[in-house]
Amino acid sequence: MEDLAYGTRNKRGDWKPNGKIQFAPVLDWPFRPLRFIKWLVSADGFFLPWNATFALIAFLMWCFLTPAVESTQHFSIGWIVYLFIRNALIVLAFYGAWHIRLYTQKSQGNAFKYDAKWPPKDNSAFLFHDQTVDNLIWTFASAVPIWTMFEALMLWAYSNGYTRYVSWSEHPIYCTLLIMATPFWADFHFYLIHRMIHWRPLYRDVHSVHHNNVNPGPFSGLAMHPVEHLLYFSSALIYLVVPSNGLHFTTQLLLKALGPAQTHSGFDKLVVGRDRTIDTHGYAHYLHHKYFECNYADALIPLDKWFGTFHDGTPEKQLAMEARLTARAAKWNRTTQGRNGSAPSLGGRPTATGLPLLPFGDDDGVD
Ligand SMILES: [Zn+2]
Ligand SMILES: [Zn+2]
Repeated sequence: MEDLAYGTRNKRGDWKPNGKIQFAPVLDWPFRPLRFIKWLVSADGFFLPWNATFALIAFLMWCFLTPAVESTQHFSIGWIVYLFIRNALIVLAFYGAWHIRLYTQKSQGNAFKYDAKWPPKDNSAFLFHDQTVDNLIWTFASAVPIWTMFEALMLWAYSNGYTRYVSWSEHPIYCTLLIMATPFWADFHFYLIHRMIHWRPLYRDVHSVHHNNVNPGPFSGLAMHPVEHLLYFSSALIYLVVPSNGLHFTTQLLLKALGPAQTHSGFDKLVVGRDRTIDTHGYAHYLHHKYFECNYADALIPLDKWFGTFHDGTPEKQLAMEARLTARAAKWNRTTQGRNGSAPSLGGRPTATGLPLLPFGDDDGVD
């Protein structure tokens, strides 16, 4: 499929989509019901394909692959290890499918790939100098255990009546609306913790592990420091106080566990037929990995728009972001100079040891 019908490629071979990133039409004012309904039910909309897929997997997990309530009233190694193995296999299958198709088989080559380059195998920022190996270690040594820990905690609370239980059969509309709110809460919570871990000390010691992935692949999605995993999966704790059912926290955790595969795939669209593609909705977060100081949330709730950090992919927003960063860099350099008596730094992209000062190369951004 010819990706230049959908976007442009710069001289380095990096591809970007035409048009600009749009927020979900949920909080539009004036509200436009037709646009909202179209977004809700279209083939690349709210439900299909990703949220429906996550909801289905969570439903199957809850009904068939989660220990019975009686057995989770007490913590025991048996059912917790079972959860860990189950979760590891789900992650391996889901992320593995993305990785093998796009990065091992390279089934669509560079079509719709944001960054022309492939993940490095000789970069000292990564464990064993290999991005994919590094990502696999953080995913299976930290992300899956911490996901499992939160799930075990929630199951224990649920089994002992410490959550505020609501029956699906007695309150089907409430329970359905609460399930539909899962991605919105995930996005809002992610925005809050994401702003927090961009605070310089936390960025340097914690979030830089994730941002080493300037050119992310699917497994980069969960490649985070354990402290970030603790914050990231803590979105499930809201179901301790919000009246809910076990399926709600299972879906929340599953969405947090699998959603990053799609948003870090590095591709804008999956080619699934001669004339058929599936949108990954990954461009907003790709721009965050590329420029670091924009798009802290995904484009579901317009938080970045409200707080002035939204980059919609257009040259205008690029220039606005550059002006914002330049002002910030000047302020930082003045402060550093005042404190250390050193000359202002004109450092480049952020690394594992620091934040960006002037993160722009010669042809970044406006193509
Ligand atoms: Zn990311
Ligand atoms: Zn970040």
